[in-house]
Amino acid sequence: MICDKELTFPLWEESDNDSCVVDYCLRIMDAARKESCGMYVLCREGTSQAYEIIKDISQGCGKSDDIELLYELLEQIIKHEKCKVANSASTKCLELLSTYEDEWIKHIRRKICTNMVCKEMYTLYIDPNLCDGCGLCINSCAFNAILGGEQMIHVIDTELCNKALECMKICPKQAIKKAGNIKPRIPKEPVPVGSFKGSSDEPDGHVTRRRRRRK
Ligand code: SF4
Repeated sequence: MICDKELTFPLWEESDNDSCVVDYCLRIMDAARKESCGMYVLCREGTSQAYEIIKDISQGCGKSDDIELLYELLEQIIKHEKCKVANSASTKCLELLSTYEDEWIKHIRRKICTNMVCKEMYTLYIDPNLCDGCGLCINSCAFNAILGGEQMIHVIDTELCNKALECMKICPKQAIKKAGNIKPRIPKEPVPVGSFKGSSDEPDGHVTRRRRRRK
């Protein structure tokens, strides 16, 4: 029996240039595991397994053999699965894995998400040369992750930051930015506006080391 349930998801081809292929596949495989009919092993277990592998990769916990494993799993689902939901999601992920394999490998080996979409692969910081101390960002943060005061250059506590990105939307100076492995020079705590010497474009020499995947 063939399950005719359809899965609709936004087309990758219509995504903007700031999208991440791993994040996109994570979202469609998440929808597939929730929407699949569940009648068959591969649509039930296969989509969940594929989702977990992609999630690990997007969170910087991917292993070197995850790509190969994902190829095998997706091919198995496509070959044997009678569930259209599992099939269409797997076909799309397989196509994007093959077309953008370099980006997937970058996520696994270097913990880099080119467009800084995958949350574990970037941090937020406030550009001290742009912040004018207006304070709007503090109230937008539900996690109390922004430190500052009147006429002070504000600073983000990356330990508390949940990357909800509300502060980025509200900042009138576009001072809140993303940084990958190379961190810019910024004050460690709030300092008066205009007092910070140096360019935030210069790296501070600190390269984040990501935790290895738990065994
Ligand atoms: S980061 Fe933006 S919103 Fe926050 S105090 Fe500075 S200028 Fe204002």
